[in-house]
Amino acid sequence: MPLPAATDGFSLADFKVARAIGSIYKGAPIVVIHESVLEQIIEYSETGRTREVGGFLLGGTYGEDHTFVVVRHFHPAIQAVSGGASLTFTHETWADLTRQVEQRHPGELVLGWQHTHPGFGIFLSGYDMFIHRHFFPQPHQVALVVDPQRQELGFFQWREGEVKDCGFVCAEEPLPHA
Ligand SMILES: [Zn+2]
Repeated sequence: MPLPAATDGFSLADFKVARAIGSIYKGAPIVVIHESVLEQIIEYSETGRTREVGGFLLGGTYGEDHTFVVVRHFHPAIQAVSGGASLTFTHETWADLTRQVEQRHPGELVLGWQHTHPGFGIFLSGYDMFIHRHFFPQPHQVALVVDPQRQELGFFQWREGEVKDCGFVCAEEPLPHA
């Protein structure tokens, strides 16, 4: 389907390059991530080759019904307790996130979370679904899973009350405004 190019306050035309990866679903928010942020997440995920690591996706939403969900920043969940195949967000994780948003990214929304699945592929486990339903229940909130061993990644979003996999748009930095 042709992507809507623009909505109030946001336009894909402002980016040097914007390419869609995977399936973009009609009527669902379009996930846009800045390429540099995706690179930062992939690099961070390399530290999660043997144990799970995770973090948070920050940015803004644009348009009615969140036409665009734009990921502009990533904040690693440094306080998270990590086991071999599970990740726990503690009270400190959330306190740190709130502080970081206030101090470094004021006004930005928590759009979702990211975590690694070292060697076991892209999906949301029952426990991941619990985390998503519990902490990221808003219609625009997404999950990103990265497998640093298989070098795969995938987004998940709310569609029709369920969390389903989805494609995304990778966008190179906005052109400076004249
Ligand atoms: Zn998981």
